[in-house]
Amino acid sequence: MKPATLCIHAGSHPDPSTGAIMTPIYQTSTYVQEAPGVNKGYEYARSQNPTRFALEEAFALLEKGKYGLAFSSGVAATDAVIKLLAPGDEVICGNDMYGGTYRLFTKVFEKFGIKFHYVNMQDIANIESHINANTRLIWLETPTNPLMNITDIRAVSALAKPRKILVTVDNTFASPYLQNPLDLGADIVMHSATKYLSGHSDVIQGALMMNDKELRDQLYFIQKSCGAVPGPMDCFLVLRGIKTLHVRMERHCENGKAIAQWLRNHPKVGKVYWPGFEDHPNHAIAKVQMKDFGGMISFELKDDSMDAARKVLSSTKLFALAESLGGVESLINHPASMTHASIPREERIKNGLSDTLIRLSVGIEDVDDLIEDLEQAIGRE
Ligand SMILES: *Cc1c(COP(=O)(O)O)cnc(C)c1O
Repeated sequence: MKPATLCIHAGSHPDPSTGAIMTPIYQTSTYVQEAPGVNKGYEYARSQNPTRFALEEAFALLEKGKYGLAFSSGVAATDAVIKLLAPGDEVICGNDMYGGTYRLFTKVFEKFGIKFHYVNMQDIANIESHINANTRLIWLETPTNPLMNITDIRAVSALAKPRKILVTVDNTFASPYLQNPLDLGADIVMHSATKYLSGHSDVIQGALMMNDKELRDQLYFIQKSCGAVPGPMDCFLVLRGIKTLHVRMERHCENGKAIAQWLRNHPKVGKVYWPGFEDHPNHAIAKVQMKDFGGMISFELKDDSMDAARKVLSSTKLFALAESLGGVESLINHPASMTHASIPREERIKNGLSDTLIRLSVGIEDVDDLIEDLEQAIGRE
């Protein structure tokens, strides 16, 4: 099935009892059994829920994987992957990634004896130099949040496979419509379904997709044992969001491209971070592993004062000043004080995230209106 058809039909089966075309919201905690131990495959909703199962099937199909698992948030999905590990295990991950992932690794899991190496993931030799006998997992995010760096998924997977190191890709920024890491050799794909998969800024949810049955069974065991499952209403909302993923992503990409180019030509704008530029350091890899470049853009002003950045951040009218991304409406965000505030300042600066970086999640409004809004917020003189 082609991607557009898949978005609409993945996981959708008419309800067997009524024929309802939309997956019902099975708002129940338990299921009546005919006799002790005799049931229809559903016992208790932390372990089994038909709405969640429909969504998990859609997750798997969208990422061209065999299995999907839904979690109550993106960080709960990340948490489940790290729980595959044991004290003494080591993880290699990016020095430029979502602030909440960094917080989970440093503040929650380090104290359980798991060691994380935060490295530059654009350099494969650098990743290789951090591998040792204890390395169990490489965690990568591409494109990264918020600097839009790209890691070569195929090269990292080729490095990891012979050493039996798991590769997990946080594919949130690309969405399954633009990039499919399992096809490139990754073992697990993670999504914050809160973002593009849901697409309407109305739900918090996470996803994991994989091909290996044993890995799926371990992660399902963690999902039901630790209990970070999403409710059926939230599963319904994400299933509904997915039906328009392809049309939304195409417009996000189109608008993102127009705005990235407009920003780059603006006399008051400094560096623009967007992997679609031919002179982006990893453009060649992005072109190979992504279908298009998405709707996320970061930029700095030539005037690098906090006042100048603050003025733009508080002057947009259509771009709402808010955390999160991937919804139909455009958002503007200040990573240093908002999404990435949990990373210590010296770490942020060392890794290229300046105090004045501005991040845009370009929505699917009319692009002329979006540009007009940025024009009045940035100003000309
Ligand atoms: C938002 C986000 C997460 C965390 O997901 P939640 O759904 O907020 O828990 C992880 N990775 C990236 C890249 C994100 O943008």
